[in-house]
Amino acid sequence: MGWEEQVRRVVPYIPGEQPKQKGIIKLNTNECPYPPSPLVKQKAAEFQTDDLRLYPDPDASLLVKALADYYGVKEDHIFTGVGSDDVLAMSFLTFFNSDKPILFPDITYSFYDVWAELFHIPYRTPALDEAFRLKKEDYLCENGGIIIPNPNAPTGLSEELDTIEAIVAGNPDSLVIIDEAYVDFGGKSAIGLVDKYENLLVVRTFSKSRAMAGIRIGFAVGSSRVIRYLKDVKFSFNSYTMNAPSIAWGAASILDDGYFKETVGKIINTRERVKKELRELGFTFPDSRSNFLFVSHKSIPAAELFEALKQEGIYVRYFNKPRINNYLRITIGTDEEMDRLLTFLNNMAVPR
Ligand code: PMP
Repeated sequence: MGWEEQVRRVVPYIPGEQPKQKGIIKLNTNECPYPPSPLVKQKAAEFQTDDLRLYPDPDASLLVKALADYYGVKEDHIFTGVGSDDVLAMSFLTFFNSDKPILFPDITYSFYDVWAELFHIPYRTPALDEAFRLKKEDYLCENGGIIIPNPNAPTGLSEELDTIEAIVAGNPDSLVIIDEAYVDFGGKSAIGLVDKYENLLVVRTFSKSRAMAGIRIGFAVGSSRVIRYLKDVKFSFNSYTMNAPSIAWGAASILDDGYFKETVGKIINTRERVKKELRELGFTFPDSRSNFLFVSHKSIPAAELFEALKQEGIYVRYFNKPRINNYLRITIGTDEEMDRLLTFLNNMAVPR
């Protein structure tokens, strides 16, 4: 009808499944298999629910201060949001506002094109090379902004900081966002470049390495000028994105660095062991620096493996998209979970 012609029509992003049944092995959404820091548990127990009657601190100062101290930057270099999806969406809205196309790789986080469509931002997706590597030259041309995840998803590959710096330095007229959702698992962070380049914004999340996907915390580090623009848009949209528990528990997570490093270390060790075992079973994959592997089998089609694993109660992610429809993205779980996966794959792969 008439009113429907005015509707902002979108094709939404489809998040990975969150199955309800118990006892499954969930390796499909890159969550952490270990709990958050015990300090978060303690803060949760101490939390005064009576205080929920008050609005939260719109500046999330406690969390911002903890992050500023941890990363050695000033507080006005930090922006926080409801998961990095919120931070990224705000960043698209704030900085990608030209008639020139923004750039991001053809194989990448599948939310980028959804935001571009939602905000009517033109975009181009230069193809990664055969080995899923980024070609720097593709990003040294006229554009309306750039977003690159490093490590990339779903490949898990990490690009050298020199490559990232060359792209940022070569685009003084564009805002360059580096999405570092997975950097804690062995990538190289661009946070150190923020002082040098005013056009750089680095986006991070508590959902993976900090085991807090359920509380929804993301943040960005950038020059004070970039952060100010981001805050202006956020405060024109919703002042109270960060709720009180997020602020308190997020700050607690940052303070417990010992636990954080131990957890990340365990996941990296498991990942490296699983890489060896999968190789022996006939799988190939890019050399992941993230908390997941992007695997392809020499003879069993990925779609078939996906279904067989699901029947077994093991959930992984399959993208039925050009170039990657013979790959599975498998999150690194606990050693026990990965052993169950490997045993199943071993039985399945043997008769081939
Ligand atoms: N960036 C990338 C590359 C991701 O894979 C994800 C996870 N889906 C996110 C950002 C968003 O994570 P969150 O909103 O939980 O911080």
